[in-house]
Amino acid sequence: MSTLSINLERLKADLLSLFEIGYDKETKGVTRLGFTEKDNLARKWLCERFEHEGFWAEIDPAGNVVGRRDKARPHQVVATGSHIDTVISGGMFDGTLGVLAGLEVLRVLRDNDITLSTPLEVYAFAEEEGRFGGMMGVQALIGELTPDWLMTAKDVNGVMLKDEMASCGLDPMGALEARVDPGYFKSYIELHIEQGPVLDTLKKPIGVVESISGVYKWIVRLIGKSNHAGTAPMNMRSDAFMGLANFANEIPRIIAEEGSEKSRLTVGKVDLKPGHAHTVPGEVEFTLVGRDVDGEVMRSLADSCRKVLSAIARKHNLMFEFEQMSWLEPQPMSDDIISLIAAQTKALGYPYEHMPSGAGHDAQHMAKVTDAGMIFVPSINGISHAPDEWTHWQDIEKGANVLLNSLVKLAR
Ligand SMILES: [Zn+2]
Repeated sequence: MSTLSINLERLKADLLSLFEIGYDKETKGVTRLGFTEKDNLARKWLCERFEHEGFWAEIDPAGNVVGRRDKARPHQVVATGSHIDTVISGGMFDGTLGVLAGLEVLRVLRDNDITLSTPLEVYAFAEEEGRFGGMMGVQALIGELTPDWLMTAKDVNGVMLKDEMASCGLDPMGALEARVDPGYFKSYIELHIEQGPVLDTLKKPIGVVESISGVYKWIVRLIGKSNHAGTAPMNMRSDAFMGLANFANEIPRIIAEEGSEKSRLTVGKVDLKPGHAHTVPGEVEFTLVGRDVDGEVMRSLADSCRKVLSAIARKHNLMFEFEQMSWLEPQPMSDDIISLIAAQTKALGYPYEHMPSGAGHDAQHMAKVTDAGMIFVPSINGISHAPDEWTHWQDIEKGANVLLNSLVKLAR
């Protein structure tokens, strides 16, 4: 069977005009935090784009935009999409690529008079970036939200989700009604930029995602004794910073012994107390984030971190405590979809690489209710969540072609 092609100029025009909503001339980045005015404008813009093409679209009660060819609700759909909210001063492609490529796929099907036996639905999932601490839109769709969470969720500035939803014309409790029967989705494929350096380094245009990393976050405290930096002899200190430095030094060994090449351990935020140049620091509080694509490996890493921290605390005369703030299991993608995407990429003649996703995506939630897969395209120098985020247009085209042909294969 011959392969279909997307129209890059149409896709490019959509990406460029959506980029204008929330674009800041100073930073050259785009800001559309979930459920802000700009985010809501983007939702309306997207609905109009679908309607302009003669398709049907609506905003569901959770703020997800869903579009398809006809208004009549099918019994089952093949779904694609991603998100159109952004971080502060983000780039052009994160999320938007997957959504607008989905719209372009609908246009190609229409232009080629292709009717799928399972209709295609395109989603822009609400609030993917986690302003309120989750992936709210897709979680609403698969029935993971609770009334309690909807009423109490707030962002880092204390702004309530329920107030922000109301300002977008949505009833917060209504989000519970966005839930669809899991059998509704036959399968799901998401096209996304890699947001890491692997494909750019390998000079390959396509990544076939095998799994999405699990992640855990700890807040760790090492408590010793603050003291005068001049009068406390080196061997009589309980120096919390020395404990942290010692632990940081052990991270490569922990990964070598308990982890895999896909393991990551990161100390990302450190608060040293009292924080004076002439005082031995008596306490340190830091974040420890661990990731791997295998749940067992994650548990071994966590176990080893705990043991190493206990031993270091003893050695430096410190007290060790930690709180586990979150634990998200890794999510493998469907073997069938992985093979399908790889086969379509091969048929199109594009080089590709099987790889994990180090970042979280809507697909990890969709994978709980249906066969799901992801296609990555390269991020230049691995940069994302920043104005410098960029992907070559020819790679955008290739990624969208793989999406198009994979979806057609699935839905025909
Ligand atoms: Zn994203």
